Amino acid sequence: MAQLTLDDVTKIFHDDDEGEIVAVDEVSVDIEDGEFLCVVGPSGCGKSTTLRMIAGLEDITRGEIRLGNEIINDQPPARRNVAMVFQSYALYPHMSIRGNMAFGLEQSTNMSDDEIQARVDEAADLLGIDDLIDRKPGELSGGQQQRVALGRAIVRDPEVFLMDEPLANLDAKLRADMRTELQHLQEDLDVTTVYVTHDQTEAMTMSDRIAILNDGKLQQAATPLECYHEPNNVFVAGFIGEPSMNFFDVDRQGSTLVADDFEYDLSDRVARELGDRTDLTLGIRPEDIEVVADGSGTHTYQGVVDVVEPRGNENTVHMQFEGTDGTQFIATVDGMRNIDGGQHVTVAFPEEAIHLFDAATGEAVRNRELGSVEKVESVV
Ligand code: ATP
Repeated sequence: MAQLTLDDVTKIFHDDDEGEIVAVDEVSVDIEDGEFLCVVGPSGCGKSTTLRMIAGLEDITRGEIRLGNEIINDQPPARRNVAMVFQSYALYPHMSIRGNMAFGLEQSTNMSDDEIQARVDEAADLLGIDDLIDRKPGELSGGQQQRVALGRAIVRDPEVFLMDEPLANLDAKLRADMRTELQHLQEDLDVTTVYVTHDQTEAMTMSDRIAILNDGKLQQAATPLECYHEPNNVFVAGFIGEPSMNFFDVDRQGSTLVADDFEYDLSDRVARELGDRTDLTLGIRPEDIEVVADGSGTHTYQGVVDVVEPRGNENTVHMQFEGTDGTQFIATVDGMRNIDGGQHVTVAFPEEAIHLFDAATGEAVRNRELGSVEKVESVV
């Protein structure tokens, strides 16, 4: 086990047509011993390149990667005590499951056959694939093959697991099951893990912290709930959360925010937080927009329902402000509340739930308040 540190890590590719491509741009993050860090971001943001640099499969252009106190920039992959799990499983089709799991140890260590077999048996038992051990990969389901790929990483007893979308090829139900299983496994093994994913549900539910990349730059590295409720900037606010946060361009005039379709009066306390900024973006999450019966309260507006997407537990309601070209936004309401397209409703944007971002830089100036978070008490 070890702490993994990325210090100003940069990767520049050279392409004959495009010239320099900065795939990873001065990324710095400390991954604690035993921590589960998910790396997320849009396609092409540098997730896989970051992971491949940690694995030693890609040279580092600038910066330093340290495992414990040791700089590993120039260590060949086989000497780094890391194990990688790929989306494609990458199993040898002609070898048995036992052979696949043992292969790496046979090639790269001096362990005796007995020791190797003991490790393979232990990992197979842990993963619940002990009864499949003599089959070939082609005789296993996708989920079982993914377990074998994990087993192959576990037998190496690495200091760090590197996982590149390991669950992406599985169907939704199996992915959800494997998510929980992987999380328990990582907790039990207590191995520092860097996990790349497109799937923000995976990132939110599995990780101790999420690192969000955009255009090769680290936007935020924080716990899932910090990223959700206290995003550093507009990018993180819009990337984390499904449906995405609603954003409106607003011009601040004194303590009033003026948008195309509405005006929003700020309390003195919130207005003070904004300093002298005037160009702002107001953000509010769909679940924080209240669809209310009474249209007379503060921060209430008239909206028209466009489309309703029922999800059972909740309805995703696409709406627009009253008027022919009203700005669109999304609210989520409880699944047991019936709401239809074409309905005229009143919506409220509670002040404690709004986020405000500097329109020029995208930086968060003010995030939602968390004072009303309720703790479920335990039964004693
Ligand atoms: P995805 O989610 O689509 O897998 P990613 O976030 O993992 O994307 P990377 O694969 O790390 O992104 O790529 C980051 C950037 O570097 C992209 O612009 C990509 O085109 C570029 N890139 C990656 N590998 C190379 C290469 N070998 N040569 C040139 N450019 C590359």
